[in-house]
Amino acid sequence: TQAILLASRPQGTPTPEQFQFETRETPALTTGQVLLKTRYVSVDPYMRGRMSAAKSYVAPFEVGQPIAGGVVAEVIESQSDSLPVGSTVVGNLAWQEFNVADAQTLNSVPVDKAPASYFLGLLGMPGLTAYFGLLDICQPKAGETVLVSGAAGAVGLIVGQLAKIKGCRVVGTAGTDEKVSHLKALGFDEAINYKTTPDIAKALAAAAPNGVDCYFDNVGGAITDAVYDLLNKHARIALCGQISTYNATETPTGPRPEGKLLKTSTKLQGFIVSDYLSRWPEGIAKLTEWYAAGQLKGEETVTEGFDHIPAAFLGLFKGDNTGKAVVKVA
Ligand code: NDP
Repeated sequence: TQAILLASRPQGTPTPEQFQFETRETPALTTGQVLLKTRYVSVDPYMRGRMSAAKSYVAPFEVGQPIAGGVVAEVIESQSDSLPVGSTVVGNLAWQEFNVADAQTLNSVPVDKAPASYFLGLLGMPGLTAYFGLLDICQPKAGETVLVSGAAGAVGLIVGQLAKIKGCRVVGTAGTDEKVSHLKALGFDEAINYKTTPDIAKALAAAAPNGVDCYFDNVGGAITDAVYDLLNKHARIALCGQISTYNATETPTGPRPEGKLLKTSTKLQGFIVSDYLSRWPEGIAKLTEWYAAGQLKGEETVTEGFDHIPAAFLGLFKGDNTGKAVVKVA
């Protein structure tokens, strides 16, 4: 099978040289295993962290070994009673055209409920991140203002839609005018292009005239610095991601926000979606319900071809995607 390996660890922004294509043998099946043909590969910002050797909440990828992540695949050979040939599954699998896996490490994808790739986005890890980060940590109430950074991405688009379901005023930031128009078309009350707006603090203040009650932070950096001045009493911040710093070679410094958090009695909580593992079935069920009712849209940017997986991943840091970035392999 074709495989994509980590060739070297990046310093700063990753480049195509970090990825190496190689042909590998697929092992013979043993009892309980299935042979899988990859259909969709998920590319996610957290993978940048795994390319580094630094200690984190998941082990680093190993140099010379395949990169792995969320994959939707079809069972083409089976030694498992639970997953017959033809089943569609989602799992944490190598960036390979074919994988052998234990059936018990995979989840069945109900292809009658939604397009299979949605189980990497709206009805998968990013959807759950939005669901628990917004609804559990921020607990938005109708009429409150919810601000989400990285609003046009996989997680951000779902956060904004969930906040509208909850009856909130929703403000988002994103990196192009097309994304800003798209957010407004999806029901966001205000959206700001953070790349072209000269004074982001002023623009955010104008977009949130009643202040910010909930901040869902996907990006960190200058946008987040500006939000601290807009927090209302008892604001809640879900610290989900800091993509603006993932490629930094030195620790970025900035204003000390603690005084502002203290004076507003703000609750700030970092979280990893796997903290909620035991509640994932609840999250998937609710997201599926809203999707079926037409209240949630599962948007994605689909890149075609196994060879283009590295490019799709690198595109995350250039803002190439709107909604979930996935690669269609077969
Ligand atoms: P996205 O689909 O949002 O893709 C990344 C987006 O980030 C790009 O499209 C780009 O959009 C934006 N971006 C890239 N560089 C910068 C920058 N320097 N400053 C501001 N924005 C930038 O990815 P996800 O929705 O999958 O992830 C969003 C965030 O959530 C990430 O930080 C990720 O690490 C985090 N995350 C955390 C999880 C958790 O368990 N805590 C789980 C899943 C994701 P633009 O055009 O707007 O610049």
